[in-house]
Amino acid sequence: MVPKTMNRNEFNKSGTKIIRQLFISCLIVFCSFPEASAHKYFQQRVNYRIQVSLNDQLHELNAFETVEYINNSPDTLRFLIFHLWPNGYSDNKTELAKQLFSIKGKQKLFNDPELKGYIDSLNFRIEKLQVQWKLLPGQPDICQIILNKPLPPHDSIQITTPFHVKIPKGVTSRLGHIGESYQISQWYPKPAVYDQTGWHPMSNQDQGEFYSEFGSFDVRITLPDNYIVGATGNLQNPEEVQILNQLANDTSWIKNIGSEKADFPVSSGKMKTLRYTENQIHDFAWFADKRFHVLKGSMKLPESGREVTTWVMFTNQQAKLWKDAIPYINHSILLFSKWNGDYPYRSFTAVQSALSAGDGMEYPGITVIGLAKDAYSLDEVIAHEVGHSWFYSALGSNERRYPFMDEGITSANETRYMHERYPDKKLWETNVRNLKLAKFFHIEQMPVKQMRELEWLSQARDNLEQSINLPADDYNTLNYSLMIYNKAATGFNYLRAYLGDSIYDSCMKEYYHEWKFKHPQPDDLQQIFESNTSKDLSWFFRDFIGTTKRMDYEVVRFANNKLLIRNKGELVSPTVISGMIGDSICFEKWVDGFSGEKEIDIPDGNYSELKIDSRRVTPELFRLNNNLRTTGFFSKADPLRTQLYFSLEDPGKRHLMFFPAVNWTRENGFMAGVALHNGFLTPKPFEYFVMPFYTFQNPGIAGFGKVAYNMIPCSSLIRKATISMEGTQFGAPDNQNYQKLKAGLDIYFRSNQQNNSLAHKAFGNYIAASNLLQIEHLEKAKLSSYLQFGYQLERTGNINPFRLLVSSESGQSFLKTSAEFNYKLSYYGKKNGLDIRLFAGTMLKTNPEIPFYNLASAGRSGHEQYLFQGTYPDRFSVSTTSFWSRQVTFSEGSLVSPVNDQLGFSKWLISLSFISNMPGNNQRIPIKPFVNLLLNDHGFGTSHATFFYEAGLKTGIWNFFEIYIPVVVSGNIETITGTFKDRIRLVFNLDTFNQAKLNSGTGFEIK
Ligand SMILES: [Zn+2]
Repeated sequence: MVPKTMNRNEFNKSGTKIIRQLFISCLIVFCSFPEASAHKYFQQRVNYRIQVSLNDQLHELNAFETVEYINNSPDTLRFLIFHLWPNGYSDNKTELAKQLFSIKGKQKLFNDPELKGYIDSLNFRIEKLQVQWKLLPGQPDICQIILNKPLPPHDSIQITTPFHVKIPKGVTSRLGHIGESYQISQWYPKPAVYDQTGWHPMSNQDQGEFYSEFGSFDVRITLPDNYIVGATGNLQNPEEVQILNQLANDTSWIKNIGSEKADFPVSSGKMKTLRYTENQIHDFAWFADKRFHVLKGSMKLPESGREVTTWVMFTNQQAKLWKDAIPYINHSILLFSKWNGDYPYRSFTAVQSALSAGDGMEYPGITVIGLAKDAYSLDEVIAHEVGHSWFYSALGSNERRYPFMDEGITSANETRYMHERYPDKKLWETNVRNLKLAKFFHIEQMPVKQMRELEWLSQARDNLEQSINLPADDYNTLNYSLMIYNKAATGFNYLRAYLGDSIYDSCMKEYYHEWKFKHPQPDDLQQIFESNTSKDLSWFFRDFIGTTKRMDYEVVRFANNKLLIRNKGELVSPTVISGMIGDSICFEKWVDGFSGEKEIDIPDGNYSELKIDSRRVTPELFRLNNNLRTTGFFSKADPLRTQLYFSLEDPGKRHLMFFPAVNWTRENGFMAGVALHNGFLTPKPFEYFVMPFYTFQNPGIAGFGKVAYNMIPCSSLIRKATISMEGTQFGAPDNQNYQKLKAGLDIYFRSNQQNNSLAHKAFGNYIAASNLLQIEHLEKAKLSSYLQFGYQLERTGNINPFRLLVSSESGQSFLKTSAEFNYKLSYYGKKNGLDIRLFAGTMLKTNPEIPFYNLASAGRSGHEQYLFQGTYPDRFSVSTTSFWSRQVTFSEGSLVSPVNDQLGFSKWLISLSFISNMPGNNQRIPIKPFVNLLLNDHGFGTSHATFFYEAGLKTGIWNFFEIYIPVVVSGNIETITGTFKDRIRLVFNLDTFNQAKLNSGTGFEIK
């Protein structure tokens, strides 16, 4: 499939699922272990006869299936495993539901009768005798059929069953209907694969595909006469072929196609039965719609000269795009056949229909495509799906276990196809779509394929890569797309660039001919490549595919026609050197992988530049060290590329980005300045963000700056370590300035898995900041020192995420320690829920002279922030005397009412707060009720604890600008704070943006 436009939210799934799945797979492995033998390759065969009728009033299928199961294994089988995938939609406990929840958040999903789907009325019989069968525990979409008598090797049985399918509304995954438009896939009882390693039961999942036995299909579909059907296989009804030909003829003549309304015509009272047959396939899907326009084409295969019939079926919805779609299919079948061997079947159909599991979905001989952005992306998605005719339809690998074998290689073919078809396509044409804008951002020359590299780098530079050979389930949504589609495709095209097209293609052809209609494993692919090239390709098959070793070659120097290159990465893999004159490549040379340094002979030439991987065909992690100019002093340093605001960063160029900035504080007045940074879309080892201002009211300089250095060790417990330096200076009362310097170390630990990961990090900061007490007393402020240490554990994701932070902070005269626990109890919907915050802190050492070092019961105002956190336009005013003086930051106790000044600060406190979305259908109203409870040591002269509470409403743009209104408060708060109006506070959190910049891609951050 082609995944939908990238979804950057990681999804998680509960640990119980993993444990249960482990348990079930153990159970099954155990059950089948004595039967599965590790002998030579064998393959079962499954032949289907299915009669099915569509009821388009009730949206259901009634069917009868006969399965001939031929046991080609050397084992005697006592049971069979069948998939009943419509049951994936049967309730919210299925694997499909759980995966969708983790991606999309808690939803009603299959509790909604329209979205619910299932298969029932099953009555399995073998040779007419009833058999015992049962659903697997916790996996209602898989069943085990106990054979009445064992099935010996090389024998076969016939299994029959009626079945009924309730078709879910097609908004969830692959099977469904939108009104009377039907997408019928994974709809019939189907044996799981039994191979040398035993049975392969797998639940229906959205992310994660198939593994099926090859055989023949003979399917009869009965439905109202005026439906048009696209299906796997070859249509056997001459009169229907005639109708389709006529329709295709008509469609090709219509001028203003797509102008009519797209309502469903009334279904004919007359029924028809269409018969489709095909051999050597492993699945059967069909799509029925009364509104389809049809176009027909044909193409000749390059090797055999055999003719393939091509069809497209589409509705008015995107008729203008689809009218030109036949050539897309024809071109892609032609090119893929040239590269991989002739297309295996007699026809191919592309259907435009509703699809909720990506932009396109492949089935044997047919594909279903969702809405496309433009002609270019329609060509791209069709080409991708056509490519699956080899790497899925004919080469039936275990896609759930090794998704790179179908999606990775298909994506490599798709990229190659798009490059052949649109060699000069630029990135802006498909994304920005405005040349002026593209020129402004300096991306008008960036080739379209650059996007792939930039997306991958965003994850790779943060050390969040996973190896390519993992099961589909081990990746979060982002990495499934980036590792399987993106990096794997880059890898196979890298291998092709190294071997050359003709050798690579001959290997792929041999792989195809050898493993056509079989179940190849990764080793089989490797074996063919290695025996056909007599090269050791373990750098590719073992290291590139099986590890996260990185590639980073560096040019060191050039003298006497010898270029010295150093391998700074872990991957010992081939690289390519070019001699350039301007932008043109004068010579090019592949160098086999090496460790350490190597001298490369460079032929004589008048090069202006020597470059590693000038065509960008290898997965180089850092390209800034890839070139050397033969003239000039700083031959390795490229000139800086300047850019207003920001841009897509070319990894081969150094960037300096800037934007004008204005600011205002009470003390500084109006300020004008500039922000400088080196880009924030691609993580870099060295990052900076500097924002100096000129202050007009009290002439001088103010501002903020941060530099950070990121280290990303390979295969270590530490994923990333960041050392940062930060400096701030702004005005304070009495024409002073306050200053703050911070040196920090953040250590992000590696999660043992990325799906449902528990992310943890540790940090330490040294801070020197102007003494706030002296500033407030209008004395000349000296710098005071502070130390902070902490550890944070976080579970991200959409369902019940949490974060635990344990930290300590000390100054010359105080020491405090605290724990903060944030938990979201998720409601239906992606972000809705009850936010619970529990904070407990205690002072281990206090300084009676400086009360505000102690714990604050309420959010801290600016003049209580001795570490000068945040951006406070009116930092030093006493609370509620002006609009901006109401600004607070909740870092300790979370009372809103401004009690700190009068009540004083606490030696210990426990604070519990609740903020909820409005219940029911009011979740989108931007008002959230909150309740805060607090206990501290202010027993007013006694040793008793004092209890406070308040409840109210908050509104605003979450995390950025929020207004808190406490409506009901406890008596003790009322006594201190006076009127209701004086209790209203606001949160203004500009740091949301600063943090996003300097921690781009880390996934989590302490506010
Ligand atoms: Zn795909």
